[in-house]
Amino acid sequence: KIYDRFVELAAKEDGVEVAFGDEAHQGIHTGVKRSGCHGFCEMGPLVRIEPSNYLYIKVKEDDCDEIFEESIYNDRPVERLLYESEGVKYETQEKIPFYAKQTRLVLKNCGHIDAENIDEYLAVGGYRALEKVLFDMTPQEVIDEILESNLRGRGGGGFQTGYKWKQVARQKETERYVVCNGDEGDPGAFMDRSVMEGDPHKMLEGMMIAGYAVGAAEGYIYVRAEYPLAINRLKLAIAQANEAGLLGENILGTGFHFQIHINRGAGAFVCGEGSALTASIEGERGMPRTKPPRTVEQGLFGKPTVLNNVETYANVPMIINEGAAWYHTIGTEGSPGTKAFALTGSVKNTGLIEVPMGTNLRDIVYDIGGGVKNDVPFKAVQIGGPSGGCLVTRDLDVKLDFDSLKKLGAMIGSGGLVVMDENTCMVEVARFFMNFTQNESCGKCVPCREGTKRMLEILEDIVAGKGTEESLTMLEELGEAITNTALCGLGKSAALPVLSTLRNFREEYLEHVVEKR
Ligand code: SF4
Repeated sequence: KIYDRFVELAAKEDGVEVAFGDEAHQGIHTGVKRSGCHGFCEMGPLVRIEPSNYLYIKVKEDDCDEIFEESIYNDRPVERLLYESEGVKYETQEKIPFYAKQTRLVLKNCGHIDAENIDEYLAVGGYRALEKVLFDMTPQEVIDEILESNLRGRGGGGFQTGYKWKQVARQKETERYVVCNGDEGDPGAFMDRSVMEGDPHKMLEGMMIAGYAVGAAEGYIYVRAEYPLAINRLKLAIAQANEAGLLGENILGTGFHFQIHINRGAGAFVCGEGSALTASIEGERGMPRTKPPRTVEQGLFGKPTVLNNVETYANVPMIINEGAAWYHTIGTEGSPGTKAFALTGSVKNTGLIEVPMGTNLRDIVYDIGGGVKNDVPFKAVQIGGPSGGCLVTRDLDVKLDFDSLKKLGAMIGSGGLVVMDENTCMVEVARFFMNFTQNESCGKCVPCREGTKRMLEILEDIVAGKGTEESLTMLEELGEAITNTALCGLGKSAALPVLSTLRNFREEYLEHVVEKR
């Protein structure tokens, strides 16, 4: 159907949805879209009007009639529902500081297209990249383009995506797989969820291109079961792509076959690790194994496997469409492109953001985030969840990219950013993350299984006022031992939050020890 205007609902708000109806208010061509997340979670439920771009925050059922009357019939904003900051009211999304400082490429369609309708994805250029590779590029040319773009894995390690693809493509074994890690388990992270819910075809297209590049005929998406909407939308997107001849046999008459399956994860954080994830898809217990062989050599079902996360695949179509040279115009030399972050904690504007790699923390916390809640002084940011690290005031101007963070002993991880103010107890923060990793340790190797347990006990003692200065030395020694000897990434990074808070806030630990003894 052709509509003149659209009302976009960012989230499923029953009352608001019912009030707007499907094609509410007869006589004018107004469609109602249930788009994915707009990112500005703190202000939800959000409603955006197209084409005027008026963005309304905290919309309630009772506001819907007025929105129709003013914005649909009379093309005027409803002043009282606009976002306001420091006395300024912002009519449209682009002007709101939260959005103005972002570069939304991966999240471009989230909140703007109906994620349940393939036609909307096609209308914004969707599947053009797939068409381009199938008709105009050889698999090797696709790999070269991705290599040249220096797209680095957005799931944590920052490993070069093109290099992974190249490794898989050159294996002798011709049965190969493409796997997407959608098991976003970090506390405070929801970037991949938003892409899967808001623009599922984009990551499917990325997976299909990967399949073509490496000669795979099947792809698997491993999604956490706690994301039912993402699972439903992915299922629907796969069915629609099949129906449109974009998946299945002889895609677009080119002879390329590719099918995508969905596997639901059962909530184990360790299944975000490559070998545990593939074991889980195979029906085995999700436990990491020793490497080599690496996943690119013997991954899923023992076959060469490309394993990337949701955000990484979602970058692929635009690199193919716009070219590697264009991709290098965004971000930094060593980390081109953008990164989506889930901005949470003690910050005024929490939500899902996307910025060029290399954006500093100050811009994120103060410009996009609007500053620390209640204007309390900033203390720290936990980046990358339990595997990441702690950034403090002196790091506010450090560029957030893979290499700069590595120098600080931290990592982007999957992109969680939890802001903490001066009232936050850093020993409690360390205990929280250690409790999380300890619970999630699969128990296969001793350093992680026993070491994290001992570290947690020490931290609990310190918090309970039973610690001594010696406890801090033990934490450091144990932390280093686990980092050096654990089998997989979960164990290797388990001590990072403790070690980085000890490094940056030792006095706070000492206060606990002295005051509470
Ligand atoms: Fe399991 Fe921890 Fe060892 Fe990883 S490091 S294999 S999670 S026990």
